[in-house]
Amino acid sequence: MTMIKNIPLSELKTGEEGIITKVLGHGAFRKRITEMGFVKGKKVTVIKNAPLQDPVEYEIMNYNVSLRRTEARMVEVIAVEDANTLSKVPFGGTIDEEILKVSAQQRGNEINIALVGNPNSGKTTLYNFASGSQERVGNYSGVTVDAKEATMKRGSYNFRIVDLPGTYSITEYSPEELYVRMHITDKMPDIVVNVIDASNLERNLFLTTQLIDMNIKVVIALNMFDELEKRDVKFDYEALGKMIGIPIVPTVASKGKGIDELLDRLIEVYEDRDPIVRHIHINYGSEIEAAIASIQKEIRANPEITDKLSSRYVAIKLLETDKTTLSQLQGLSNINKIQSVVNKAIETLEKEYAEKSETIITDAKYGFIDGALKETFVERIKDKRINKRELDDILTNRILGFPIFLFFMWLMFQATFTLGSYPMELIDSGVGALSSFLQTTMPEGPLRALIVDGIMGGVGGVIIFLPNILILFFFISLMEDSGYMARASFIMDKLMHKIGLHGKSFIPLVMGFGCNVPAIMATRTLDNKKDRILTMIITPFMSCSARLPVYVLLISAFFPQNQGLVLFSIYLIGIILAILVAMVMKRVVFSKKDVPFVMELPPYRIPTLKNTTIHMWHKGVQYLKKMGNVILVASILIWALGYFPRNVNYSVDYNTQIKSLQTNNQLSSDEKEQQINHLEVTQEAERQEKSYIGQLGHAIEPVIEPLGYDWKMGVSILTGLAAKEIVVSTMGILYQADLHADETSGTLKDNLIKQEHTSGVLKGQRVFTPLVAFGFMLFVLIYFPCVAVIAAIKKESSLNWAIFTMVYTTLIAWVVAFLTYQIGSLIS
Ligand code: GDP
Ligand code: MG
Repeated sequence: MTMIKNIPLSELKTGEEGIITKVLGHGAFRKRITEMGFVKGKKVTVIKNAPLQDPVEYEIMNYNVSLRRTEARMVEVIAVEDANTLSKVPFGGTIDEEILKVSAQQRGNEINIALVGNPNSGKTTLYNFASGSQERVGNYSGVTVDAKEATMKRGSYNFRIVDLPGTYSITEYSPEELYVRMHITDKMPDIVVNVIDASNLERNLFLTTQLIDMNIKVVIALNMFDELEKRDVKFDYEALGKMIGIPIVPTVASKGKGIDELLDRLIEVYEDRDPIVRHIHINYGSEIEAAIASIQKEIRANPEITDKLSSRYVAIKLLETDKTTLSQLQGLSNINKIQSVVNKAIETLEKEYAEKSETIITDAKYGFIDGALKETFVERIKDKRINKRELDDILTNRILGFPIFLFFMWLMFQATFTLGSYPMELIDSGVGALSSFLQTTMPEGPLRALIVDGIMGGVGGVIIFLPNILILFFFISLMEDSGYMARASFIMDKLMHKIGLHGKSFIPLVMGFGCNVPAIMATRTLDNKKDRILTMIITPFMSCSARLPVYVLLISAFFPQNQGLVLFSIYLIGIILAILVAMVMKRVVFSKKDVPFVMELPPYRIPTLKNTTIHMWHKGVQYLKKMGNVILVASILIWALGYFPRNVNYSVDYNTQIKSLQTNNQLSSDEKEQQINHLEVTQEAERQEKSYIGQLGHAIEPVIEPLGYDWKMGVSILTGLAAKEIVVSTMGILYQADLHADETSGTLKDNLIKQEHTSGVLKGQRVFTPLVAFGFMLFVLIYFPCVAVIAAIKKESSLNWAIFTMVYTTLIAWVVAFLTYQIGSLIS
């Protein structure tokens, strides 16, 4: 066969024509350039290409386009003259387009393969066997190392295989490593074959994690498979391949086994037909990921870099203080900015971990490998050398894992509520003292009402939960920092899969029992967007601590016998609903099939108090910021709706009655005070009923009547939109005043029991029966979580999902309360 040379498009001179044989390069560049029409077999004509000109002008598919010289270098062509030789048509006449296409096809059917792997993994053996009797095309050498290259034919393809020196890693510590790396980034092989010694998976897979970072096409040759089969192990390499998005082909290179399968697989991957191939990210943990993202942002401003290299890879290399990568970036317009962003990121990371950034990344990579092997590799006879796995064997044990995990969860909640109750009381009395101080010192009027009732009442009511939340965050940070959190997710994974979620969703859901807001923020640990959204929208069914006061009030009033059981049933109904919704949503909305992924098992660390406190504080501040804004605005709004309008037409002239009581000498001063007080409360209740929020409550009466509620419950539900604690305080205000004048006012609980319907079809009947109370508790459990949760969902996903959550939770709440009341009424 005549030697035809593939040359870079940039080398064609003005007026010359070429046929595209291959497009090299990376991600977005590749996509853009093929969309422009630069695909195999197409003819390009150079319109203008002067030596110093950049960009260069081309004509392709009758369009004129310009490419930067660096881009044109990544398009391979054969000159039309060569195509001509190849097709044996005498040069001179016009060249038949069809012939050109065929010859381009031949040239484009060359697949460039690079063999990469640890020393002694069997690369050379594989290389020799694959290339077999084929002629050696050439030997080329690097600085101190060299690579052999061979070609061979298979089907309609020519394979060009390069056997690279063995390396454990692609850093810059040895000339071999640098050589392998340069080969991958500069020669851009179509596929890298990562030869892995199956008898030493953990160490061999380290190199694989670096190839994953580079975002290149990789196929794994799981070599020495015979050695693996000799040992008493079970390795589900297919599952591993699916998880990491890399096809894995078992081979025994020394016996030539599996080589055919490997080559066939390479063709499939080359033709983009392999369903397993997908680019995954190794999750380096929130801090490093944040650092990567900040660096990536600067890298992406330089297409000359991102055309060739993955920006994520460059960012990771920079975080590893890789000098080679840094020198590649010299001369970029924003190199100073990049440098300062990198330095700042490294400084933050090293301060937090007290470890070199490179080590942190290496640890994360081994965590990824541990997690991947934990799920796919079972060693029947324990290898005594592997000590660090022993702790894992206990913590993630099939039988012991659960009780240990439940114990830690119990400990966490116990600590959150018992330890938290002391500072909580302190803050509570502090807020109370400040309120009454303002109440007595400020002149009466709307400003005082705004500050004391609106702001102090609303924001203060939430601030008192801050200690609990900080303690909860402290434990969560502790579990994350020590590496236990990853194990907990691991244990729950199987169970969660049954309802369409997975292990990592479990932690946010558990946190939801404390407060839904940090729970929704915690869904960030999920890599998959769909899982994240699904977890977010079912989190509100985890009954948060703010709903507890409502249950406590109603249960003590209407279920004195079975308090614990009723409370438990409410939490349980929430959990069951979450499961049902998850299953339905998974079928209907997120029906795409699961992509398996690796659950990282990062190394255990002894967490330091300082770091854990920093992490806790980090989370706490986020919470406070969100709470501050949303709760403040909502409290003021609800307060204003209840405060205005001020000029109400009262049904009774309260002022005159109060005055006449004051001048009445037949009553004792005690009686007088009591009756005046009662009149004032009654007046306030009527004013509330006629305020905007009262009007709203009446307006929604038709909607809540089928649930057996009166308008006051409607108003409580409305005010509960801001925060569910407010439901109880609203009931306190509304039900307080409605007693008959001859009764002394009792506790809220007593008032609820005596309450009667004042209007509608149920007029004269008791408002609260155990049935209504139960239905109301369910409604409070299920409906619209609270403004802060909706704001958090919007921030973490999108406005649409926030609106969806608002609507669907409220609809379900209504339906559940309706069925409870209607069916319950039939039975009783
Ligand atoms: P390289 O350093 O990666 O190029 O590895 P080599 O190709 O030089 O192989 C190292 C050793 O492993 C040689 O002795 C091979 O015969 C042996 N070897 C290669 N592949 C296999 C295999 O699949 N099974 C077994 N048992 N030995 C193999
Ligand atoms: Mg070798």
